[in-house]
Amino acid sequence: MAQYTGVAVSPGRVVGTIRTMAPPVTEPSASEAVPEGVEPAVEADRIEKAAEAVQAQLTHRAQHATGEGKAILEATSQMAADPSLATTAKGLVLTSGKSAERAVWEAGDKVATMLEGLGGYMAERAADVRDVRARIVAELRGEQAPGIPDLDDPFILTAIDLAPADTATLDPAKVLALVTSDGGPQSHTAILARQLGLPAIVAAKDIHEFADGTEVFVDAGFGTVTDEVTEEHHRFAEAWAELQKNPLTYEGGGGVLSDGTRVQLLANIGNAADAAKAAAAHADGVGLFRTEFLFLDRADEPTVEEQTQAYTEVFDHFPGKKVVVRTIDAGADKPLPFLTDAEEPNPALGVRAYRTSWEKRSVLTNQLDAIAAAGKDTEAKPWVMAPMISTTEDTEDFVEMCRERGLDPAGIMVETPSAAITADRQLAACDFASIGTNDLTQYTMAADRMLGSLAHLNNPWQPAVLALVQATCTGARTAGGDPESFGETANKPVGVCGEAAGDPGLAVVLVGLGVNSLSMTPRSLPAVAKVLSTVTIEQAKELAAKAVAAPSADAAKSAVRAGLPVLGELGL
Ligand code: PEP
Ligand code: MG
Repeated sequence: MAQYTGVAVSPGRVVGTIRTMAPPVTEPSASEAVPEGVEPAVEADRIEKAAEAVQAQLTHRAQHATGEGKAILEATSQMAADPSLATTAKGLVLTSGKSAERAVWEAGDKVATMLEGLGGYMAERAADVRDVRARIVAELRGEQAPGIPDLDDPFILTAIDLAPADTATLDPAKVLALVTSDGGPQSHTAILARQLGLPAIVAAKDIHEFADGTEVFVDAGFGTVTDEVTEEHHRFAEAWAELQKNPLTYEGGGGVLSDGTRVQLLANIGNAADAAKAAAAHADGVGLFRTEFLFLDRADEPTVEEQTQAYTEVFDHFPGKKVVVRTIDAGADKPLPFLTDAEEPNPALGVRAYRTSWEKRSVLTNQLDAIAAAGKDTEAKPWVMAPMISTTEDTEDFVEMCRERGLDPAGIMVETPSAAITADRQLAACDFASIGTNDLTQYTMAADRMLGSLAHLNNPWQPAVLALVQATCTGARTAGGDPESFGETANKPVGVCGEAAGDPGLAVVLVGLGVNSLSMTPRSLPAVAKVLSTVTIEQAKELAAKAVAAPSADAAKSAVRAGLPVLGELGL
């Protein structure tokens, strides 16, 4: 029997069979030639057959896929149907005696480079060509196709990590749970799993010790995978499956604790499509609108008119509700050619987010103009906040820019230990704070949030992180404020919009520490609302005190889980 542990990033309990994602296809050696005794024409014919097989597989998958995954698979299967790759490859076999595998590899490079040279839409197709090339080479070698296995029966997917293209084709009806050996709690894979409501564990570094086909029990509330599957495990898995059939519902109106205490429950979004989903999930507003998604992949800054239009489309989904707009957060993992310096040695500690406005002020002021213009045309209540604030001068400067444009309220994200520790002064200088626990954790623990090897540090259950959340709430109380101003709290409002807010156990702790709104992926709203409804504010405070005083992140989590039996009952 073996049990491996990773970092739990999206809850759920399942029993199932492990299927391992095929590793990327390796490049055939440049000296690989047509094998001796084989006619070049026969070797060249293999290419056509393999290309046809790949096209048939992709078309079959596209027919059974939905949404974004379907579009991606359709584009790839069209590319597989395009004869230029196979024709170029066949030519290489016949004229230079290359093996079919090597010829396909080189032909793929040629076609992809040619498309890149054309720019625009055609350049974007280059990635599809490289994908098709890899699939044909795998087919020629008799290897498993790269990417997510295409099987009829549902399975537990194990992988090193998922590429963005894999995540788009991941079918939640087929994949029961996801376990990766790499990736951190804030990685693309983790965020996607939470959005899909898929049980997931990352940084389970030994997971590949389990052979393909092994039956295991995954507890993605605790982060464990075991091949000793007991009757009790089956019961846990059945309870989780039952919950999926009758999902917890959330009808809006905030989180209501068992003593009637209210906590605003909001959504994290990146664009108008997300805003529509958040509104459909009854979110009480938006707690984090990541505006940089509008800027990414752009060589130039979007115009004020373009931005105004994009913000208006989001605001229109939330008439009468609050929409917290986070100003552009470029830099580190989100570089922007017109704003950030790609040569910085330590971009996470560099001129990122609000700091980019020191040198290039107009990008931020243009954005604020656009938010103000969009706010005038809408019934939503825009709140504006700046990311990566570390001094009171930063806060004062940002608030002044907002006030000049009539943007009110104006707040800051608490993402650095310095902002948390000086929260009383920060909040005296602005109207509200929202704690970005993803970055606050990375900066408190000095651990790159993208690194799987540091996942145990990059964990918002770390008592040091919780202590800084507490310090922020204490600072906000000291700063005071007009109880009537936002109708939400007697103090300056403090929310949490990092991934921690969507973890039901942590949500209780955050509320106990004094946070009065939680913003998360809409999928997490029902579970968070349900778990909050089982405690009084006094119980939440007691659990929070235990978590802050715990000697480790694991101890903090275990202590809170022990005090919240509902988590185990629901498989969360
Ligand atoms: C955070 O850091 O917690 C946050 C919400 O911002 P982002 O994840 O976009 O950096
Ligand atoms: Mg952040």
